[in-house]
Amino acid sequence: MNSVPPAAPALPAASPRSADLIARSRAVVWHPCTQMKDHEWLPLVPVAKAEGVWLETPDGHRIIDAVSSWWTNIFGHRHPVIVEHLKRQLDTLDHVLLAGFTHEPVVSLSEKLVALTPEGLSRCFYADNGSSAVEVALKMSVHYWRNVGRPEKTRFAALSNGYHGETLGALGVGDTGLYRDTYKSLLLDPVVLPSPDCSLMQVGGRGAGESWEDYSRRRFADARQILEAHADTLAAVIVEPLVQCAGGMRMYHAIWLKLLREACDALGIHLIADEIATGFGRTGQLFACDHANITPDFICLSKGITGGTLPLAVTLTNERVYEAFYDDYATGKAFLHSHSYTGNPLACAAALGTLAVFDQCNWMAIVRGLGQLMWTQTAALRQHPQVAEVRQQGMILAVELAQSPHQRAPYPAADRRGLRAYQHALTRGVLLRPLGNTLYLMPPYVITAAELGRVCDVLIEAVDVATRP
Ligand SMILES: *Cc1c(COP(=O)(O)O)cnc(C)c1O
Repeated sequence: MNSVPPAAPALPAASPRSADLIARSRAVVWHPCTQMKDHEWLPLVPVAKAEGVWLETPDGHRIIDAVSSWWTNIFGHRHPVIVEHLKRQLDTLDHVLLAGFTHEPVVSLSEKLVALTPEGLSRCFYADNGSSAVEVALKMSVHYWRNVGRPEKTRFAALSNGYHGETLGALGVGDTGLYRDTYKSLLLDPVVLPSPDCSLMQVGGRGAGESWEDYSRRRFADARQILEAHADTLAAVIVEPLVQCAGGMRMYHAIWLKLLREACDALGIHLIADEIATGFGRTGQLFACDHANITPDFICLSKGITGGTLPLAVTLTNERVYEAFYDDYATGKAFLHSHSYTGNPLACAAALGTLAVFDQCNWMAIVRGLGQLMWTQTAALRQHPQVAEVRQQGMILAVELAQSPHQRAPYPAADRRGLRAYQHALTRGVLLRPLGNTLYLMPPYVITAAELGRVCDVLIEAVDVATRP
């Protein structure tokens, strides 16, 4: 049953060639994060080319990628510097196993990541997607405690409304309702800490007159009590620093992270920072942890690391953790984890290209400037009767729709308001992909002021369309 009537095609009628590609895709490809039946009436969008912030269909329709293709494509599509690094790498070394072997791209990349990430992170362990990077951190933490004679420390604490990926271990420390319910029988049972999420839409959350900082401090006191009660069995706390992205771009104050770091130190619990979405400048600092000036025991990176060209992920940790594994072979303390494509040279070259782009200019100043522009260009939304809140952190701007903002009454999920916004924006040449009732912008950092202005105009229209009765 569709609660949304089949709408006009998202883009002008597809040519026979596009229509054929769509039909072939529906015949053999099971698309992710999708009820495939929707595609009986919601057209798939074929993409033939991409350049900068623009995607182009086989029929020549152009669409601005305002969500950086699931937050990966930080410098736009086919950035010439990244393309050049990749092409050069392809001419010399495609792939080699990383056990017993090494290569220049993985070594250079590791050196650079150690230099760029918060002080004290000194060892890089590679995987090929964000969920796996999270699982590496979880396993390393538990294994560390076992190696140092604390085998009872096997549990994790995680935030309500958190998201850490979709493989079983990563899903097991996440708290995204439908996913957890569906796969409950397969999942870990973490200690849940109340999210410091400052959204006014959070039930029992921040009062309208309460500052983000005051609320985050108050919220931390509850978290601290829970951590104290479970400290003996907790290996680690895992958080998305500053922004719970998949959970609806819910944001909190950096003070909460600072207090968490202090508590983890005092209680002997590892801190895992999942910066898979926030890392590489998205929040206005290179890493979200930098806003709080903290160093986690583990940082998980992926998404933006290759500028959205190839899959790559890395988990960094400190010397103390590393040394707990470093011993004679017979002690059996070595870390047990590997993926076939670990440290793939092409992916590492793409990451080196991405870091070379970072070196070209002060991107964090650009990100903060564009963030400001997003804020001013969406001023109209802050007066909109069905907008509960507009919030922003760096180059993430989120607009939360509500049936009745004053009563904190959300729209029912079955209304699929976000989908209406998606469909409207596509007809206007902008890719938005809302999370439920939350519309957001997360464009590549290379977007121009004019393009961003257009994206903001379309966002405002999309809010109107999505909130019509
Ligand atoms: C996307 C994401 C992941 C999962 O990464 P995948 O590459 O999709 O497995 C984990 N944590 C956060 C915070 C993410 O945004």
